[in-house]
Amino acid sequence: MLRNNKSSTLTPQECQEFINFPTLLTAIVTPDGKLYKVNEDADPVFGWEPREVLGRPLQDFVHPDDWDETLGTMAGLFLGTKAMVSDFRNRCRQKDGSYRWVNWTAKTRGGFLYAMGTDVTDKVEIEEQLKTQVMVLESISEGVVIYDKDFRILYLNSALEKLFGYEAGEALGQDAMIFNAYKDEDLELISSVVNEALDSDGIWMGEWLNKKKDGTQFMTAARLTLLHSDKKVIVCVLRDITEKKQIQAEQDALQKSLGLAVKVGKVGVWQWVPGSSNVTWNETLEEIYGFLPGTFPGTAEAYTNCIYPDDRDKLWKTVDQAMKEGKSYAFEHRVIHQTSNKIRWVQCSGMCFYDKDGTLVNMMGTSIDITDTKLAGEEQRILAEASEILSESFDYKKTLDKLAEFISRHFCDGCTIDQLHPNGEIERIIVSPLVPEIRKKIIDNHVSYSPDFQQDHPQLTALITGKTQVILDVSKIWSEMRAKHSSNYVDELESLNLNQGIIVRLKGRDNLLGVVTFFNFKGSKFHFEKRHQWLAEELCYRISYSLENSLLYQNSQDAIRARDEFLSIASHELKTPLTSLTLLNNMMKRNTANYPESPESKNTMRLLEAENKQLVRINRLIDDMLDMTRIKAEKLTIHKEDFELNGFVSDVLERFKPQLESVGSDLNSSLSSAITVHADIHRIEQVLVNLLTNAMKYGSGKPVKVEVYNYPTRIKVMVTDRGPGIKHDDIDRIFLRFERAVSNNDVTGLGLGLYISRQIMEQHEGSLTVQSTRGKGSTFIMELPLNP
Ligand code: ADP
Repeated sequence: MLRNNKSSTLTPQECQEFINFPTLLTAIVTPDGKLYKVNEDADPVFGWEPREVLGRPLQDFVHPDDWDETLGTMAGLFLGTKAMVSDFRNRCRQKDGSYRWVNWTAKTRGGFLYAMGTDVTDKVEIEEQLKTQVMVLESISEGVVIYDKDFRILYLNSALEKLFGYEAGEALGQDAMIFNAYKDEDLELISSVVNEALDSDGIWMGEWLNKKKDGTQFMTAARLTLLHSDKKVIVCVLRDITEKKQIQAEQDALQKSLGLAVKVGKVGVWQWVPGSSNVTWNETLEEIYGFLPGTFPGTAEAYTNCIYPDDRDKLWKTVDQAMKEGKSYAFEHRVIHQTSNKIRWVQCSGMCFYDKDGTLVNMMGTSIDITDTKLAGEEQRILAEASEILSESFDYKKTLDKLAEFISRHFCDGCTIDQLHPNGEIERIIVSPLVPEIRKKIIDNHVSYSPDFQQDHPQLTALITGKTQVILDVSKIWSEMRAKHSSNYVDELESLNLNQGIIVRLKGRDNLLGVVTFFNFKGSKFHFEKRHQWLAEELCYRISYSLENSLLYQNSQDAIRARDEFLSIASHELKTPLTSLTLLNNMMKRNTANYPESPESKNTMRLLEAENKQLVRINRLIDDMLDMTRIKAEKLTIHKEDFELNGFVSDVLERFKPQLESVGSDLNSSLSSAITVHADIHRIEQVLVNLLTNAMKYGSGKPVKVEVYNYPTRIKVMVTDRGPGIKHDDIDRIFLRFERAVSNNDVTGLGLGLYISRQIMEQHEGSLTVQSTRGKGSTFIMELPLNP
């Protein structure tokens, strides 16, 4: 047999230690190829007891097909051409005659061959099996790895190698742990779950955290299948789901923010399978409709019952239409809040979903509580309309009456407005429309409170403190009132069947104006809540403003009336002595003229002329005042006659010329051909003189021009000066009573001339207008129709 002389044998103890080495097979073979020692652990696998094999030639136990290779390998070792062999594989015979594959690691020492073997039958069988399947596994895009029972890598396809970044065959034979990215504690837990599933069902599916060769972690969807339950070979198919996970995470985030938006935005979400009774609501929708979480019955009928009866038909018609046309819809309707029984407004939107055959399978939508917006809109509408009513006229009793009626239709059952007069008296000026007997009681009732009222009273408290009194349940204040007021009075109030009240003070800029009381009766369709205080106060703010303006207007009207009355009386009273004075002046002038040579006479005559001028001026002022009062009383008289206009104008200019010249103004005129007009010659003269006087007063001593133009149907007389002109904004105003565009210090005047002149021209069916350019002068134009 083969002998190796180079090494010495092991000591008996070393031999024993080797044999007991904890591996499946250990054997010592003599140089002549006989089994010298074998370990006892091999017995259960191979069936031999050591004593049955010891001393027998090795050839008895090796498969004939493998014997040549086995012998060759042993020869190499004994002859020293090989120092050691590992991974040498042959089939060894079991006692029952069958063979098992054994992988050997062997070495010679002291002429003996020391060999350690591992039973690799399973592995070899799988490898054999895989040889046929490898083609298939290599062609699939998912990564496939096959582990043996100890989770050693028996096979991995190229897709998996690529996935984990390993070179071809690099990971073969390694532990599954090279792919693991879990921390120990997590791995323990996950492994136990996986093993349990494999033991019970032979399969486990889930997500697995992996580690690439370069340490990068990534998630895969994993499917582990126990291929041979007895041999525990595990086939693991892995699919990279990193991207999917990212998308999922994004979707989750989106879903989360959507969910949040739905929650924060208080969006109710619903779903309904048309034709069925199956309605699903989210919690927000339950809240909107007043259901406790999870208590909505989930039926179409329950849903319909929550809809305000008047809106049901319209809602279902809208839904039907949407289903028919496959369109989405949005609809505002009222619902009955199931907890409070109050009516709320909801905006409901819906969408239809169809399957690929076009059959309607589902409807989904949202509902939002829009009560506050609706109410705010309604409140704004009430305020806008109230403002409009209040601005209709300065007759405040009329407008307040109309407003109270409007308020009683849109805000409450009724209201009263109590006006506080400057003398402290409180007058109930408005009681909104009510049945007569209640109306009477309410009118009478206010007598029971006034500023000198000794006891607390809601209206008085509001008036004095300015604090709005909101009484949401009137019945609660009766006993309090009884303690302070006569029982008759409270009985009377109580008999009005009042339920609620809001009392707001009316206040002007500097003074108190009164109190408004808004009220509802028991069983009313109106119901005050705390928030209605705002609307009540806003209404009263507008009432105060309007009332104050009306009162101011009324006061100014009264003042104007008083002034006109005074002017009328004063001018009449002044006219008589003035006429006497003028007559006296004329007489004195005549007498003085009788002594033309006397120096005193000349002096006296100058003084009388000066006095006459002033008398003429005063006369004109008083005439203006009288005319103004006549115009106001529509008593300005016009006596028309035919006269030739150009000659008339020429005469007036001739008379006026000296006056103009006295202030340094030249008078130029351009008259037309003779034309007869039918007019009040004195009044037309009054107008022309007035315009010339103004040209003299405001014309800055510059030339004044008078032109007359004839047209087929009218004539125009124009007076132009080169004074400072009139501001555009003042042009309309200067034709009104007492309106002036200069300060009284600059040029004196009453501001009546143009007013009277325009009235005169209008009474002639003509007109008086002005064209003016600042800094350049003004042209006043009298127009008269011909043959009126
Ligand atoms: P009075 O001259 O007494 O003020 P009028 O009614 O005649 O009253 O005129 C009203 C106002 O119109 C005058 O106060 C003046 O401001 C303006 N006005 C009238 N005529 C002229 C004018 N020719 N040029 C500039 N302003 C004028």
